[in-house]
Amino acid sequence: MKARGRLAPTPSGELHLGHAASFLRVQQSIREKNGTLILRIEDVDRLRCKQEFVDSSIEALKALGITWEEGPDLGGDFGPYVQSEKTARYKEIILKLRDLNLVYPCPVSRRQLREHGFDLAHGEALFPKELRDSCDQIPEDPWSINWRFRVPDGLKLSFYDQELQKEITFEAGIDFGDFIVWRRDGMASYELSVVVDDHDMKISEVVRGEDLLLSTARQLLIYRSFGWDEPQFGHCPILKDGEGEKLAKTRGSRSLKSIFSEGRDWRQMLKDCGLGKVLD
Ligand code: GLU
Repeated sequence: MKARGRLAPTPSGELHLGHAASFLRVQQSIREKNGTLILRIEDVDRLRCKQEFVDSSIEALKALGITWEEGPDLGGDFGPYVQSEKTARYKEIILKLRDLNLVYPCPVSRRQLREHGFDLAHGEALFPKELRDSCDQIPEDPWSINWRFRVPDGLKLSFYDQELQKEITFEAGIDFGDFIVWRRDGMASYELSVVVDDHDMKISEVVRGEDLLLSTARQLLIYRSFGWDEPQFGHCPILKDGEGEKLAKTRGSRSLKSIFSEGRDWRQMLKDCGLGKVLD
């Protein structure tokens, strides 16, 4: 089968130079395999996402010379797939996970979590095992409560990272705890929606920023719950905040929108950050 990759921006703000590097690498990797690229707007978080950012993200991708060859037909052009249209599908998958006893409704609030105390792993709160299954019964409206994935403690999750070119391993219960798959404010979590979409869209390779390495381990658990084919994963270096800030001060704002409108040389800026390889 032809390789299939995706560009998956979250329209909660303007894209910046770091996104440019990742998306150029996504395109480069799929073109090397003569594969198909799709664009998916990751707007599950309707509170943070805005149409103006959808529009400016699409404009920025085009200005970077990135193209995609599948999606809703816009009369000669392809539009993006949009996650906010898939809520019913995400709910269906959560109910299947519930039938497998892999997810549970979780009434624990952030405040209760703080009061109970928690360990940190990789800078994130580890959901305490003692607070698992603290919900006696599923509320009448099951979508008005958080749902968490019950991670199999001690299970090691490994994958070969095609960008870092090494095997990566995380351990459930140590590196990450029970994670949210549905949010009580009425939306699927990132981890859930991204796996469902990558599966539904038959994505064969996921190339994204290194900040999502740990998420990949969580996502593998969802793939393995259903025995779904797993894509190849690759995580590329991201611009650290410090570098971005430095760049912002010395060369103007790092949002792509302003870089383009000020006529700055974004290719040179990428090279200056040591990310010139994505331009080869
Ligand atoms: N939408 C995510 C982001 O903008 C990327 C998710 C992914 O590539 O899996 O950070």
